[in-house]
Amino acid sequence: MATTHHVADILAQHLSNYKKVHALTYQQQRVCQHIKDCRTVKLGAQQWQCDRCEHNKTVYCACRDRHCPQCQGHVSEQWSEQQSKDVINAPYFHLVFTLPHELNGLARQYPREIYSCLFHAVWQTLSQFAQRKNSYKAR
Ligand SMILES: [Zn+2]
Repeated sequence: MATTHHVADILAQHLSNYKKVHALTYQQQRVCQHIKDCRTVKLGAQQWQCDRCEHNKTVYCACRDRHCPQCQGHVSEQWSEQQSKDVINAPYFHLVFTLPHELNGLARQYPREIYSCLFHAVWQTLSQFAQRKNSYKAR
């Protein structure tokens, strides 16, 4: 039988040691705490009972953090469904710009500066593409 590992269990076991070596931002600490507390007694619970058979079930509250793997699936499904209603019936491009992993540390320390540079570079790149004739035609 395969063992199931949850991010919450890994954080509970290793986050304190990780924090001894790596600094977390306030936001990162909050996310970790939400994931650790999700669907536990720490966030409260509801007692559900069937009216017919009187079966009882304790349902623990979810953190609803967008980074939480237990909560993300349902929320992201709802988001995707909502976005699909807004997609126009026309050709379009979905572009993703990423930073090299070597800049992750700098992005954590100076997010405003790094992401400002990224968006500036993205804007320059897209502007150059837009100025090329026929660069947008699908093949
Ligand atoms: Zn959650």
